Amino acid sequence: MIPLRPYQQELVDNIRRAIGQGRHSVCAVLGCGGGKSVIQGNIAASATARGNRVLFVVHRKELCQQITNTFTACGVDFSLCTVGMVQTVCRRLAKTPEPKLILVDEAHHILSQSYLSILQHFPGAVVLGFTATPQRMNEGGLGAVFEELIESVSTEWLIQNHYLAPYKYYGVQLADASKLHTKRGDYDKAEVEALMNKRAIFGSAVENWLQLAKGKQTIVYCSSIATSEGTAAAFREQGINAMHLDGTTPQAQRQAAVEGFRRGEVTVLCNVDLFGEGFDVPDCDCVVLMRPTKSLTLHIQQSMRSMRTNPNNPDKVALILDHVGNFTRHGLPDDVREWSLESKAKKKKQELSVKQCPNCFAVVKSAVQECPYCKYVWEKEEREGPEVVEDIILQEVARMPYSKHIECKSWAQLELFRSTHKRADGKIFKFAWSLHKAVQLGLAVPERYRSAAIRLLRQDEYRRLKFE
Ligand SMILES: [Zn+2]
Repeated sequence: MIPLRPYQQELVDNIRRAIGQGRHSVCAVLGCGGGKSVIQGNIAASATARGNRVLFVVHRKELCQQITNTFTACGVDFSLCTVGMVQTVCRRLAKTPEPKLILVDEAHHILSQSYLSILQHFPGAVVLGFTATPQRMNEGGLGAVFEELIESVSTEWLIQNHYLAPYKYYGVQLADASKLHTKRGDYDKAEVEALMNKRAIFGSAVENWLQLAKGKQTIVYCSSIATSEGTAAAFREQGINAMHLDGTTPQAQRQAAVEGFRRGEVTVLCNVDLFGEGFDVPDCDCVVLMRPTKSLTLHIQQSMRSMRTNPNNPDKVALILDHVGNFTRHGLPDDVREWSLESKAKKKKQELSVKQCPNCFAVVKSAVQECPYCKYVWEKEEREGPEVVEDIILQEVARMPYSKHIECKSWAQLELFRSTHKRADGKIFKFAWSLHKAVQLGLAVPERYRSAAIRLLRQDEYRRLKFE
């Protein structure tokens, strides 16, 4: 038996109480890194100990072995417990003995047909789902299946109580996903590929990594094999040991890459869809987001992959480098979110609560007055929301026509230049640099930077600065 942490025990008690009160189907909500599988193992163990049959349904086959290991450690009696991938369970329904309890991992998928047919086949079983994000893209709420949501501690709480590492989130956008179309609930894959699969983008991603995360064990999430391979190649050109993995990579090769990463021989693992939902990935210190997504679930799973604590490094700070603006759609990993079982149409749109530091690209909560990374101060009267990003977005890096800042014809070009170049000493140009150059080149600066300009420029410079 693996002992439960106090908040895990509390969640188990709350689930028991709900089922004791006659609930037939409940969904437990626990943030990534909250130790979901230990809780599931604990519940399965006490069910089998009482002679009740358990069916555990997982979303991916890679998870079966992993969960079987955890369940064994938790003392689950496997003569009464079946662990299976959803498609496999579906095919073998007729041969599967009737369970008393069905556990559903990644329960935000539960409205898909394969899950529904399992539930319909065993109408007498109690259904207990687990997820960090109880919603499904563009579809009905989970209320169609679950009678009650039982929420556990938040991601913020897990960080504050040292169950997760704190993080720094940088949003240097190398591509603008806002014009992409939607297909099956997420961005059109072909359009994403056309947007992302550019040498200049791979190169800039590596530059940013060298600046912000050099040497850190890093997982890069890409949208296509071409992008992932291109990014890995760009890392290798800089002498960084990087490898690419996708669903078609032979098992043995995958294993070798992951083992190499665990031992620190491979520094960067670029992948497509492999490390999304729980695939047993080694811990890492940094994630690089190169796949624009409309899925909050995917965003949270990917960005939080770096946040597991490391007993050998109690001061670990996870790094998240977002090159596709996912934060502009979904906010930060530990934003407080209100969940409900209702369908999306009925829910109020939740307001994003982040803004970006114009000096260092850090993404911080809107309420923050001073950037915790570079000490940039937002003036109270400045009302900056995520729209600020538009000015500093690195649009179409590949087509950037100029190489010297003096050729910049607008503030936007100047900011683009600043974000894609480095000073001779290898350091980044600060926001103040753009303001100085705007004065010299006579370029107009957006009105909302007026208070920043007052602070950052000499008085004679400020008087020469034009605003638009
Ligand atoms: Zn900053």
